[in-house]
Amino acid sequence: TGGGLEVEELRTAFNVMLAHIDESLAARSAAEQRLRQFVADASHELRTPLTSIRGYADLFAYAAANEPAERDRLMGRMREEAGRMSALLDDLLLLARLDATETPLRPERVDLVELAMAAAEGFHAGRPEHPLSFDSQVDSLRLDADPMRLRQVLDNLLTNAAVHTEPGTAVALRVRTEPDWAVVEVADAGPGISEQAQARVFDRFYRVDDSRTRGSGGTGLGLSVVHSLVAAHGGTVSLTSRPGDTVFTVRLPSASLVGGSPQVDS
Ligand code: ADP
Repeated sequence: TGGGLEVEELRTAFNVMLAHIDESLAARSAAEQRLRQFVADASHELRTPLTSIRGYADLFAYAAANEPAERDRLMGRMREEAGRMSALLDDLLLLARLDATETPLRPERVDLVELAMAAAEGFHAGRPEHPLSFDSQVDSLRLDADPMRLRQVLDNLLTNAAVHTEPGTAVALRVRTEPDWAVVEVADAGPGISEQAQARVFDRFYRVDDSRTRGSGGTGLGLSVVHSLVAAHGGTVSLTSRPGDTVFTVRLPSASLVGGSPQVDS
């Protein structure tokens, strides 16, 4: 009868509804789990330099009275560790703001070639142990972007190319165009990143070799910051890597305004 069918339909609808609720609960608990993990990782990362500072401060109290040279060395170490904490907090704050889509970008008309050249110059001065080549297909490439943040993207990639390879390893910075994109590449001739690791290097706090790379002073957030900043510009970042040839490719929309909406002065 019609009545029986209605009950069947109701039952089906009810089951569909339950399935939806299940799904959204599962999604929410996955998001909560990610957040919990992030807070745990962040706390751990911040505690490491803090513990060092505390240790140096204890030693300092003793050395201050007796050994001026040792005192100065310890003071230098404390400054370094405090600097690491503050870099970490800057990255965390930036990521949180990008997550909240409260876009912290200040877009303006920039010349990507000029900006990349400045980054190359900075790298050359700061990392003279790595031969750097700069190459651009075009003389100038204008786009709407936040110059400070774009510079941060290039600096992070260049720093990685230096820090995660042996001194003397060649690094290349290249600018080129594709039909819809302004493209900038950072390449190095280092050992490369294994295929399993390639899938994870953009994850927050991920390091391929924890013990080896932690000492390099990196926060483990560099590539997540790159990823989020490029995405906030409407672009993409990708990676190909084999021994002797690791390439990070950043694509930025060549003509469109940041975020695809009219630019608002703030
Ligand atoms: P970190 O602060 O450790 O550099 P990143 O997020 O910038 O953090 O990078 C994540 C990990 O990816 C690094 O710890 C390193 O193991 C690996 N990595 C990044 N860039 C390179 C590169 N050019 N060559 C080899 N390994 C790299």
